[in-house]
Amino acid sequence: MKIRTRFAPSPTGFLHVGGLRTALYAYLYAKKNNGDFILRIEDTDQARYVEGAVELIYSTLRDAGLIYSEGPDIGGQYGPYIQSLRKLDYLKYAKILVEQGDAYYCFCSKERLEELKEQGATKYDKHCLSLSAVEVEQKLASGVPYVIRQNIKKGVSTYTDLVFGEITIDNDELEDNILIKADGLPTYNFANVVDDHLMNITCVMRGNEYLSSTPKYNLLYDAFGWERPIYIHLPQIMKDAQHKLSKRFGSVSYADFINQGFINKAILNYVALLGWSPKNNQEKMSLEEMVELFSVEGISRSNAIFDLDKMRWLNSLYIKELPFDEFLRSATTWLDKSCAYNKYNYALLAKLIQGRIETYEDIIEKVAFLDEFTEYDLALFTNIKQKTSIELARQILPQVLEVIINLEETEFVNDALYSSLSALAEQVGIKKGQLFWVTRVALTGRESTPGGATELAELLGKTSSIARIKFSIDLLNK
Ligand code: GLU
Repeated sequence: MKIRTRFAPSPTGFLHVGGLRTALYAYLYAKKNNGDFILRIEDTDQARYVEGAVELIYSTLRDAGLIYSEGPDIGGQYGPYIQSLRKLDYLKYAKILVEQGDAYYCFCSKERLEELKEQGATKYDKHCLSLSAVEVEQKLASGVPYVIRQNIKKGVSTYTDLVFGEITIDNDELEDNILIKADGLPTYNFANVVDDHLMNITCVMRGNEYLSSTPKYNLLYDAFGWERPIYIHLPQIMKDAQHKLSKRFGSVSYADFINQGFINKAILNYVALLGWSPKNNQEKMSLEEMVELFSVEGISRSNAIFDLDKMRWLNSLYIKELPFDEFLRSATTWLDKSCAYNKYNYALLAKLIQGRIETYEDIIEKVAFLDEFTEYDLALFTNIKQKTSIELARQILPQVLEVIINLEETEFVNDALYSSLSALAEQVGIKKGQLFWVTRVALTGRESTPGGATELAELLGKTSSIARIKFSIDLLNK
């Protein structure tokens, strides 16, 4: 039988990385087994519907490379299946269950249900199950609003989850959930079962918050005489040991991370590691490699802690390996939006920063020295390892300035600067490292910079380099 998995998000506004992980694992499992991966938007709860959310899910999956195998045609591409547009007659299916005694009409008013709660009931009391067929007919005929509830019968329910093992629940713990709401639409509890069956889904993957409701769904499969799918529930993604990774604590969505300068492939790669690891413990993986390496045995039962530093590290690897032109193109967007750096040579700048940032957002901090140059702490000139001091800076910088002034504009490039300043170091009998340290501080007023003294001088250009060194000399002699 062909393996078929689905990702079934509700369009509630943004795509949490937990959702993306479910989509990814469902995709990997399908692809690994030459199966199909399907996207189904679960939007039957109109109250929770958020404008634009469907498009966001749809575009995120495409951007992340999780291409689903089928769906309605939307201009030559597969669109997602959208539950509300399927115009499926869920009521028809619910009525089959009613006829079999596996579901029943419930006419209880809101007030009665509230009263029940106030009296301490933790679940619905099956009140309407005892209505006679005639009573039900009369109420339906006179237009009393109704819902249809699942009739959970006494017993125990057992199923095996491929990650969490055997799950057994006493049916007493389950509630007679609503299957069809008063507006005629199905609840998630019903629609997911009917749709998974009609779409021939063989494997259901989702967060482990569904572990305990799955027995209810199995009872529905059994009542219809449908084959149950296999289940793979996934561990939670946590911010720390106590808290789930939630919007309250900051960024959680794919779009947030893209906006913060992460690369799509790196996000996907990191998300893959949240609850799964391949046998060979490889960490950096392309989507194709993940398909190759994926196995359900590698999925963990323990919750995964979201480690932003690790994601940043992975992202830096992806940035480093980008072809330079591609990096330059993205870096340009960030440089353009961060400030007026366009007087600088972006290609030079990009060469300096490609290996020194973890996210594109880091560019802003890395290039800030171009914009900001004011009085700084002279202690920066003292570096024990480099054997430099304020005194050395005071002595040598006027000569550095002279060398720089004497270089033609056309010679104001890294190589020429490097050899002229190296020659100066030799001439005065100090180490190159000493000279470059003080020059770099004099040019930037910073301890760490993206590049060495001569690279930065080239970037700043002759006029600005001269001005900065003069400023530093004045500062040293104040
Ligand atoms: N629509 C449900 C959700 O977004 C899907 C759960 C499932 O995959 O069955 O949580």
